[in-house]
Amino acid sequence: MNDDLSRYHRQMLLPGFGEDGQRRLRQSTVLLLGCGALGSVAADLLARAGVGHLIIIDRDFVELTNLQRQVLYDENDVADGTPKAQAAKRKLAMINSSVQVTAIVDDINHTNIERYANGADVFVDGLDNIETRYLANDLAVKSARPYVYGAAVGTTGMAFSVLPHGAGDSPWENAAGDNFATPCFRCLFEDAPAPGTLATCDTSGVIAPAVGIVANFQVSEALKILTANYDRVSRSLLNLDLWSNELMQLKVGDAYEKGDCPCCKHRQFDFLDGKAGSSAAVLCGRNAVQLRHRQQAGGIDIDAVAKRLRDHGEVSKNDFMLRATISKPDANYEISLFPDGRAIIKGTDDPAVARSVYARFIGA
Ligand SMILES: [Zn+2]
Repeated sequence: MNDDLSRYHRQMLLPGFGEDGQRRLRQSTVLLLGCGALGSVAADLLARAGVGHLIIIDRDFVELTNLQRQVLYDENDVADGTPKAQAAKRKLAMINSSVQVTAIVDDINHTNIERYANGADVFVDGLDNIETRYLANDLAVKSARPYVYGAAVGTTGMAFSVLPHGAGDSPWENAAGDNFATPCFRCLFEDAPAPGTLATCDTSGVIAPAVGIVANFQVSEALKILTANYDRVSRSLLNLDLWSNELMQLKVGDAYEKGDCPCCKHRQFDFLDGKAGSSAAVLCGRNAVQLRHRQQAGGIDIDAVAKRLRDHGEVSKNDFMLRATISKPDANYEISLFPDGRAIIKGTDDPAVARSVYARFIGA
């Protein structure tokens, strides 16, 4: 055995892996979208597994309340206020110095995702909002690259692997003509829910084991994909709730055939083209950013959002808007939220910070 590979001996023993699979891993690039709870578990495992290059994008800084589940970070990162992508890079270099890590501190949006994803063989989801998931899925389908979805909140989690149906030949077809393409994220969830309807970890809580199971599942899927074991990739939506002891594998393999997906069937990339999702505008001289949905989101339940935010700061509302002050160690943010989902985040002139506050406290 090649000495360079000796540290990977235990996984190379596996069927479908071997020295060949290990070399494939070493030549591969993984794009990690977000490096919070899911992302830090995934980054740790991918680096230990010997992936050649990890591109990590995250817009946030390490905070004390992250440490309960974000396993790559420690109290020094909190004290230093280190961006997560950079803290992750530093930690991963100590875990496996042969892995190249590119750390990007930025907000992922339709203007930059294609550039950041350049050269990536698979996208692993560590995101905190659904809008960017549609965006990642659009790019995955458009460029025929796999996307491994994962999400965890409260005591629940979900995960799913996308091997996109392409416009031409399927990269996921074997010599015998079996095609292992799967439905895409939008086949499963065609329409984005209205802002403020999804629970977030910041308002509803989360336990670390739910995150750990989902992220471990995602990495297992990524390893199958990167070693070209497409026949082993799950064709079910993993759905679990640790508090009620439910572990379900929902059969969704025929969602592509049965549905009429705008993304993978009609090749309409609404999020990547900037026709769907939200836009951010800095309000000059007001230390504020306005976030607006390009398509009418409609029907935001101001009362429900107000109830969730009461644990986090001062909340006032009337028939036309909600105003909440969120106190964080680094700054206070004032959120003004309107019934169409539009929001003004005061306390920053950085769109990435505003999007983060919105994703964490309103939910999008
Ligand atoms: Zn689809």
